[in-house]
Amino acid sequence: MDHLEVQPGCLSHFFSRKTRPRNPTSRSQTKSPLEDKSSRTVEKGSITTDELLPTDSKPLEKTDNIRYFNPSCNFSYGSEDEWWIEAEQLPTYLPKTSPSTHASGASSIIDQALNQANQSLRALSLKIHGNPETTFHENYAHDTLTAYMEKCSFKVTRHYLGLSTAWKAEYSQGAGGRVIGINSEMDALPGLGHACGHNLIAISGVGIAIALRAALEAQPQISAKIVLLGTPAEESGGGKVILLERGAYREMDACIMCHPSAGLPHSASIGSSNAMQSIEVEYFGHSAHAGGAPWEGTNALDAAFIAYSGISMLRQQMKPDHRVHGVVEGRNWLPNVIPDYAKMRWLARAPTSDELILFAKRVQNCLEAAALATGCRVNLKLENAYFDLHQNPVLAQDFADIAASQYGIATTTTSTSASTDFGNISYALPALHPAFAIPTEPNGGNHTAAFAKAAGTEAAHAATIAITKSLALTGYRVLTDTHFFNRVQASFEQSKIVAKS
Ligand SMILES: [Zn+2]
Ligand SMILES: [Zn+2]
Repeated sequence: MDHLEVQPGCLSHFFSRKTRPRNPTSRSQTKSPLEDKSSRTVEKGSITTDELLPTDSKPLEKTDNIRYFNPSCNFSYGSEDEWWIEAEQLPTYLPKTSPSTHASGASSIIDQALNQANQSLRALSLKIHGNPETTFHENYAHDTLTAYMEKCSFKVTRHYLGLSTAWKAEYSQGAGGRVIGINSEMDALPGLGHACGHNLIAISGVGIAIALRAALEAQPQISAKIVLLGTPAEESGGGKVILLERGAYREMDACIMCHPSAGLPHSASIGSSNAMQSIEVEYFGHSAHAGGAPWEGTNALDAAFIAYSGISMLRQQMKPDHRVHGVVEGRNWLPNVIPDYAKMRWLARAPTSDELILFAKRVQNCLEAAALATGCRVNLKLENAYFDLHQNPVLAQDFADIAASQYGIATTTTSTSASTDFGNISYALPALHPAFAIPTEPNGGNHTAAFAKAAGTEAAHAATIAITKSLALTGYRVLTDTHFFNRVQASFEQSKIVAKS
């Protein structure tokens, strides 16, 4: 499949812990691959992440068109002896929301359901952690997770919508009612294993689904549906974008998931993430004897070096919240043969899709210039872009309030310069994707061997379960609190109106 060749794109380099401006009017105007409702801006008059901060603590200042960036890196990876220290928790920045009429009863049922499932979820997590699989090859995770969901009496569809490792588990109660979507990621990184902690995401999705089911069954008069998707290929391949295009999210009223990261103990973030464009470039030259007749060759490796140098120089002029990084690979390279082929894979990132389009074009110029300089033929391939993450402000506020008041988790609005294919989902329907901290060692954040180790620890599991309980309660509110859901939907619709204006 073509998408097997696309670029890594997950929430890597998590939590650079800078604060950056979010200009609502500069969000993407690009149409979604699926529906015209997908592109929009943060709505005027609604809560933006920056607005959630108290005025006197806002880290950004704006004067006319000048933006000031806060370069501080005020965070800790949280050693184990810091874990779960109540006194060091951050204050929540978010106003309280009015409680759901069913919330108190549901809360205890959700807690109970997840406490009961805790050990089996831990075992499930370790199984996936111990069998890391890369993009679109999550066969063991697919089989293990679907078997678990079947055992929990969910209706399971394996190999969902033509993707061999995608799956769906659903539960319906009554007729009609709202549908909550949940995502479980499963993929790992080549050579690093579960260095992004997707084993934790996988069991969080499962946990939310079984907890919500328990809460719904205690309220049999409520009609509702739970749809848990096993979403492959987040690190590369954009599995969710493919599932979105194929209609997997169409029936959902909202969709929720979470992602682990380094960070302060017992903290979470509801900030945004960068939009990202993957670019694959191939240079085709002509081989020759490097000693005997190098003038007869056309050197594809030279093209790759020139491209790398050009982009490195571009980096001097790019904005501090943009990113570009790439790797080079070849075939049959020998020092005594002029290489006739080189391939590079690049990722360009920017805070909004509009900014990304301009920036990715500058990267492409460097890649094409290298071909011109060397006389190589060039082939460029752009994959589906990942959109920046638009956290639904009403869902985010509810989650942060629950996480703080019931589970002692402090939520910040810090954004990350990494990217996720869930960004595209967040433009198609109301969505929430909090990041949450697990203890790891210094310089042991996402996409490191240390983080892979951290993703298998008891402390990481405990953090995952706490976030899972919080998300389950927000999901329950989507299903059962019409006034709340109307606010969720209104904020989403308003954002689309702003996008078109
Ligand atoms: Zn990742
Ligand atoms: Zn990840």
